[in-house]
Order: sequence, then structure tokens, then C-alpha cells
Amino acid sequence: KKRDPHQDEFYQAVEEIIRSLEPVFAKVQSQEPEEKIQRSTFLNTYKKYIKVMEQILEPERIIQFRVAWVDDKGNKQINRGFRVQFNSAIGPYKGGLRFHPSVDLSIIKFLGFEQIFKNALTTLPMGGGKGGSDFDPKGKSENEVMRFCQSFMIELSRHIGMNVDIPAGDIGVGGREIGYLYGMYKKLSSKFEGVLTGKGRNWGGSFIRPEATGYGLIYFTNNMLQANAKSIKGKRVLVSGAGNVAIYCVEKLLMEGAIPLTMSDSKGTLYVESGIDKELFQEVVELKNVQRGRLSQLEGRVGVKYFEGKKPWNIPADIALPCATQNEINEEDARNLINNGVWAIAEGANMPSTPKAQQIFLNNNVLYGPAKAANAGGVAVSGLEISQNALRLNWSREEVDQKLQAIMKKVFEACEKAAKEYGKDGNYMAGANIAGFLKVANSMIEQGW
Ligand code: GLU
Repeated sequence: KKRDPHQDEFYQAVEEIIRSLEPVFAKVQSQEPEEKIQRSTFLNTYKKYIKVMEQILEPERIIQFRVAWVDDKGNKQINRGFRVQFNSAIGPYKGGLRFHPSVDLSIIKFLGFEQIFKNALTTLPMGGGKGGSDFDPKGKSENEVMRFCQSFMIELSRHIGMNVDIPAGDIGVGGREIGYLYGMYKKLSSKFEGVLTGKGRNWGGSFIRPEATGYGLIYFTNNMLQANAKSIKGKRVLVSGAGNVAIYCVEKLLMEGAIPLTMSDSKGTLYVESGIDKELFQEVVELKNVQRGRLSQLEGRVGVKYFEGKKPWNIPADIALPCATQNEINEEDARNLINNGVWAIAEGANMPSTPKAQQIFLNNNVLYGPAKAANAGGVAVSGLEISQNALRLNWSREEVDQKLQAIMKKVFEACEKAAKEYGKDGNYMAGANIAGFLKVANSMIEQGW
């Protein structure tokens, strides 16, 4: 913290993991004398884990660059670009790009750090990385977004490659942006290679990639509920967000016979007491994906309530699926959720719950699916897109969906098993952190200091 102050989000993500790893580190702490530890290979392994953790905390490479572009009025604009290549122990760096005014090094480092362990949980060979810019796509014209993406890629292109680092989307970066970025990469490198994921389906993209995070979240939730003798059918569900993750989460909830009650954007929450139906859902999709408008535009539809400036966490329900952004559930929100009867939470966004909120969930025996496990479906299908590109073929929609379902089952089982093994039965947060860490740490140990 002394070396890098002002990285609150990064330290928040780190602290969560370190606390979860206490049972892994515990075996060393009880053994004080250094020589004693050195003599025992078994204990030495545990000492190594602490050392490896120190090594993981330092990103392998941080790239920061200037992005200069010209807006529609002819004004010259400057933004800051980042790519943090955090860890390549189990594969090439992999992780999304976020374009949002809140982006700074702390945000990219927290996302990259989470990505290391999330990617490890997917069972696929992908290291961890993340990038982005403080560019705000909101209110920008199509041409401005295109020029920005092209300028961003002029610098980024020299640092990535299909065997080096494979970026994808995150907040503010969807299919449109991936297209512009890919076009510029191809022009600069003269290569048609799977250097980005989330590509259009006509030019190397995978079926189910747009849906993957939202669908995967529900597959994970199904596994978590099933393991606790419950099911999602007929349950009342609070969803936050109205972006790519939230949209396909709501679509899958409708397919599963659950009742999605809310969606939200940065201005407020849309609430339908009887549940968002297929027709209203289609209107949201059109509004968000085509018109890029606000949920408040749907106020006045029959049965639709709109709460300006409010988050969805104070409404009676069974399940909550935060799919907007980091720290969207604080201590008070967590209490509200529990007081409103919510008994299961799974995270579609990255780090949406503050540490105090997480503690409240765990203390109240809420079934809690942490982000790095519950939202791993997005990057998992990115991994399947890389496989298809390498094979130079496309799998069918059904094939990809089946593989995604199988992966989410394995992700849940890994969390469940590690939690049990380390005395944290039912604490899937601890399980996710321990299972993800051990895979990466052991790979690093095997590859040498
Ligand atoms: N941005 C997504 C995540 O947070 C997906 C990253 C990817 O597909 O590489 O996991």
C-alpha cells in the first residue's frame, strides 16, 4: 500500500482473497523456526504459497498509454489507455477491456487480479489480464466510438497476440467496439487471427458469447440451489443492470420459469411486481441495444414502476443477482436484502458486494455465489472462441451451450470441494478463492521462481 497508494479497489480484491486463504497459509504460521520449515518439504510448500502470493500481487507487466482522437466537432481529445498483463502461469493473458470514465489503474488492477483466479476456475488454459480506458462511450456518436477504438488499438496492438494476450469486452465494450478494434488490429498486423474474443459470428466469433455471462450466471445459480435442495423455478429475482450481463441473465430467468422483478441503470430502477414479461423484456433489449436509451423511457407502461436514483435492493424477493458494477451492494443494501427475504445471491458483475456486505451474507447463511465463480461463463465462452479459432471451425449453438453448462457445473463443484476441504463448508467465496489460487500458485511453483 505504501508503494501504490490510492488503489482501493485493488486492495479490496486482494484482501478478500488473502482472508479466504487463511486456512491454506495457517499451517506455516504455527511453525515459527525457519530451519524447521526448511527441513520439512511438506511445510515448505505452505511457506511457498505465501511467497507465491507476494509474487502474484505484482502484475507481470503494466502498460499505460495515450489515446489521441478527434471528435465530431474537430476537437482534439486525449484519453488514457491501460492493459495490465497480470499473470500468465496457466495460459496467455486473457480478460476484457472496460471503457468507462471511472477507469483508472486501481480498477484495472482489481479486475485483472480477479480475472487470474476466475480464468483458473473455468478449467481452460487462460492467464489473467484486463485493460480499458477512461473514455466515456455515453453520448458519443458512432464515428467517435470508431475513431477512439482505432486509436486505442494502434497502441494496444503491439502488446497483444493470439498466443500472448487476448482481450475481449467488459463495461462499455461490446460487439460494436470489438469489431472496430479487430479491424484496426488486422490492418496493422496483416493477420487474421483470434486476437480478440466476442467477435461477430461471421468473422470468427462464437455462438453464445454475447449470452455467456448472463446464461452462465443462471447455470451457476442452478447448481448452487440444487446442491442446497432448492430450485430457481417460480422464484422472485432482483436483477441490477441493463447491460449485456443483465439482459441475458433476465432472458435465461424467463426461460427457466423464474420471475425477474427488476432491472436498473445508473439513473434508477425499473420494477414490475408481477415480473418482467417477454414483451417488456424485448422492449428493454431494443431500448438498450439498438437505441442505447435509458430505462426511464419505459415508465408509464402498464404495471411498470420506475424508482429514480434507487437501486433494486429494497424489494421483497428470494434471490438477488447484481449485474451492474463494483460495490453496488453496500452494508445497508445487504441488510435490506436480508430483511426483504432474499436467501441467495450470485454475482454477475465483478466485485459488486463490499466486504461488509459479503460478511453479512455469510453470517446470515445466505447462499452466496461470488463473482469470480458465478460470472466465469463469459470468459469461459471466450476460451471456447479461442479453441474454435485455433481449430478454424465453428461449433453449433447447442454444442457451445452444452460446454458452457458443463463448465459452470465444474466451477461450482470446485468451489464446493475446496470449501469443504479447508473447513469452510458452504462458503463458496472461500472455495472459489482457494481453488483458483491453488491452481495458479502450483503452476507458478512448477515453473520455477
Ligand atoms: N469481461 C468479462 C469478465 O469480466 C469477460 C472477459 C473475457 O471474455 O475475456 O470476465
